[in-house]
Amino acid sequence: MRLNVAGRRSVLVTGGAGYLGSVTCARLIECGYRPVVLDDYSNSHPTVIERIARLTGEPVRCIRGDVRDGALLDDLLAREAVVAAIHFAGLKAVGESASRPFDYWDVNVGGTLSLLRALDRAGVRRLVFSSSAAVYGQSQQLPLAEDSPQAPANPYGHTKLAAERVIADVAATHPDWAAACLRYFNPVGAHPSGLLGEDPRGVPNNLMPYLAQVAVGRRKALTVHGNDYPTFDGTGVRDYIHVLDLADGHIAALRHLQTNPGVHCFNLGTGAGHTVLQLKAAFERACGHALAYRIGPRRAGDVAACVADPTRAREVLGWRATRDLAQMCADTWRWQRMHPAGYPD
Ligand code: NAD
Ligand code: UDP
Repeated sequence: MRLNVAGRRSVLVTGGAGYLGSVTCARLIECGYRPVVLDDYSNSHPTVIERIARLTGEPVRCIRGDVRDGALLDDLLAREAVVAAIHFAGLKAVGESASRPFDYWDVNVGGTLSLLRALDRAGVRRLVFSSSAAVYGQSQQLPLAEDSPQAPANPYGHTKLAAERVIADVAATHPDWAAACLRYFNPVGAHPSGLLGEDPRGVPNNLMPYLAQVAVGRRKALTVHGNDYPTFDGTGVRDYIHVLDLADGHIAALRHLQTNPGVHCFNLGTGAGHTVLQLKAAFERACGHALAYRIGPRRAGDVAACVADPTRAREVLGWRATRDLAQMCADTWRWQRMHPAGYPD
């Protein structure tokens, strides 16, 4: 096994300064790994790296750069004795992916190809990939298992499915390759310290950060995108999962890959669905006051409900989500209250 000077296994974390990557880096350190971050800060702040270090008491190595830069990756992998990579770096706004398909295919698929090529050259054939429930699209059958039909409803979902395909094709070329494609459902929440959280640029697309910004007074009211869906109260149902549970899913996947070559896909979700109005009510309990809202039309491309069947991750990885909606809201609220305007620039 390749160990660095401190006797810790180093893991390359692309996009490690982002929302999910930063919390995962903190968990990696707590679990005895040493993250080596590669991030171009196109959607994050260098201050995040200092915070991970403050939180864990460990210095964090971070290289500023683009995952599509093969020479940079070669250099990084030659210097750092990494045992695996976790690939978070990517573009993630579903709506934007329809207007910027070149960028989404280039970064999400081109970035994955570039990383795979460099890892293969360096003989580091272990990868955990940030995939998404968006690979399933408009499925009729819920909950969604890993073998449910895959029919992405937008370019973002297409790029995630294509990246999974590339990973499978590359992994088939060498018996050492071990890869886990983790299909996240709806990650929300923040690090319980309040130091790391989601800091979207501009108007949030997603429900939880929008609610948090209404709660802190940055936005006037939530617009609920449709209340005529065939669900409990007519609003959309999603499987919200705490970012710390998600981070633990990565640790479980890394451990699994140590002894299990091949490509493995896992849903990371709770298996429970909540409506928009249920999440709003939970957030009101967390922040202690009512949140203004209005009912708007449906949002183009939205599905009525999307809920994971997380059985495979439980049975194979021994992982399951343990944090409930109240904790997701309490931690988001702590983060938002401590950072009403997001990370300082
Ligand atoms: P994020 O934008 O907060 O983090 C992504 C990080 O990657 C950022 O720090 C950004 O600066 C960096 N980055 C982007 N392009 C890069 C490039 N070319 N080279 C190097 N760094 C680059 O997003 P996140 O919410 O943390 O999501 C991480 C991953 O998880 C993404 O791949 C996303 O598609 C996937 N995912 C996220 C969600 C979600 O709801 N947050 C759901 C499903 C899947
Ligand atoms: N949603 C909403 N108002 C918003 C943002 C989201 O009503 O400002 C709804 C959306 O229609 C969906 C749910 O909240 O039913 C979760 O949306 P999000 O964008 O967070 O996740 P995704 O749609 O990608 O699963």
